[in-house]
Amino acid sequence: MRILIVEDEPKVTRTLVKGLEADHFAVDVAENGEDGLQLSTEIDYDLVVLDWNLPKLDGLTVLRKLRKSGSVARILFLSARKEISDRIMALQAGADDFLVKPFSFDELAARVSALLRRPTELLDKISVDDLVLDRMRHSVSRAGKLIGLTQREYAVLEYLMRNAGRTVTRTMVVEHVWNLGFEGLTNIVDVYINYLRAKIDQGSSNPLIHTVRGVGYSITSSEGNGQTSLGVRSFQQTNGRPAEQSTP
Ligand code: CA
Repeated sequence: MRILIVEDEPKVTRTLVKGLEADHFAVDVAENGEDGLQLSTEIDYDLVVLDWNLPKLDGLTVLRKLRKSGSVARILFLSARKEISDRIMALQAGADDFLVKPFSFDELAARVSALLRRPTELLDKISVDDLVLDRMRHSVSRAGKLIGLTQREYAVLEYLMRNAGRTVTRTMVVEHVWNLGFEGLTNIVDVYINYLRAKIDQGSSNPLIHTVRGVGYSITSSEGNGQTSLGVRSFQQTNGRPAEQSTP
């Protein structure tokens, strides 16, 4: 997996390069918009981390030109602007996700993982161990037994399962399950995780929902049996997508 970082602040770039390389990504850096556009047009990156404020050419212009040229790279847009209208502008210009500065590396890494896992969005059924979410029927079952969930519980679970095996932060859950106008606290996510645990994991010798301290949550079958990735991988094969896309 190859990532391009387009960012002019050396401190931010250093942190990103160090962290992403430790996560086994191949990382290139462009320090201004012109170089960023040129590199990302020439090289088929899996993901571009693109800052808004850049010398020579701003990130939004780079983004628009890149999409106009037909690039399908995932684009994670960075900006110190936190207005909803700015976010919308970036998403409409073709960004896949938006992260407000300053951010923690954990938050960025979680978003990168989620973006690179996008093919699972096409799944009709997602399974993690014996937990199955059926999007066509809008139903959830564990070990063959149907579980009744509210709309919101279902949405939180679906987001976790779409990112099975990866950690998602509270902010990511809120952004995907609630809407942009949501102004409450992200600990609403903890409340829903508790509801889901009570319905899915309570009394089970194999709890699937895990707390990742200081970062967020992940859904994954008990360590070592590898069944989480099996479910996703087998689908990706039948869907004709590269099976190993999710493991950089
Ligand atoms: Ca900048």
